Amino acid sequence: MSIHGIERRDFMRWALAAGAVTEFHEAFLPKLKAAAAEAARAHPVLWLQISGCSGCSISLLNTVHPAVKNLLLDEVVPGQRLVMHFHQTLMAGTGEVAMSALREAAEAHKGKYVMVFEGAVPTKDANFGTMGLEGGKHVPMSEWVKRLSAGAMAVINAGTCAAYGGISAAEPNPTGCVGVTQFLEQQGIKTPVINVPGCPCHPDWFVGTVVKVLLYGIPAASELDDHRRPKLYFAKTVHNRCIYRDYIDEGVFAHKFGETGCMLELGCKGPFAHGDCPMRQWNSGVNWCIQANNICIGCTEPGFPDEHAPLYQRR
Ligand code: SF4
Ligand code: SF4
Repeated sequence: MSIHGIERRDFMRWALAAGAVTEFHEAFLPKLKAAAAEAARAHPVLWLQISGCSGCSISLLNTVHPAVKNLLLDEVVPGQRLVMHFHQTLMAGTGEVAMSALREAAEAHKGKYVMVFEGAVPTKDANFGTMGLEGGKHVPMSEWVKRLSAGAMAVINAGTCAAYGGISAAEPNPTGCVGVTQFLEQQGIKTPVINVPGCPCHPDWFVGTVVKVLLYGIPAASELDDHRRPKLYFAKTVHNRCIYRDYIDEGVFAHKFGETGCMLELGCKGPFAHGDCPMRQWNSGVNWCIQANNICIGCTEPGFPDEHAPLYQRR
């Protein structure tokens, strides 16, 4: 018998072969998926916590789109995945195992990894913050910052302490902390720097920035503001899109917390603080500082906190 010129015997042989292929595919699907993930382009990231409170790491753990599990284990965008080779808090390894992982990753991916710093750099004394031993001596954090930033494709400062010094460098600053940006300038290290400030930095700001760098390379100067913040998130002030803008326009001001009105008289720093907090909000869009009936303390600005003090008085 022949249908459309195909003999029955040939048709059966083809159908069996097709069935076998399908079975093979079903049985090996998990392995094929794993192989595809392996084939995805892996982008190395190193994260060093210096002098800070770990709040920016905690903020990153709260990322929702993508969840941190997906961010660290899956393809962050199709065909591209991040490989976090070092993070003091998140990694399981400790001691020399962790230090070897750091050295090996920095060497193997020289010029290709993104270096993330969290916290400011203590400069007053080499013993104010050390990590690991070399030749029986403690290695100062400032030395790690120099080495790791010099070999990086780009530096991303996560949070205001890393970007500008922040609370770690606030008066009286006994450890002589400075922001990584300033420290690298003092050391003459020319690796491109992107600042993603905030106390803490918003997980969306960080994830969006690191993915953009890995996919499209270093942002053009026109994409960053004068303080090297991505304009995508920091072009406008908080005040610009505040939910209380109508009150300020109508001259209605709150004089104690809980009163109706704009909170400028209570010390709100929204008119000069940059960030898209009113639109993006925090904790997956649940709320943000002013909507929670507090002022904006200007946590994304280079002068924070000293230049904003006292926080609850009009500047
Ligand atoms: S509460 Fe702050 S940010 Fe909002 S309108 Fe008043 S001064 Fe501007
Ligand atoms: S509203 Fe102000 S204090 Fe709150 S996160 Fe945004 S910039 Fe920081």
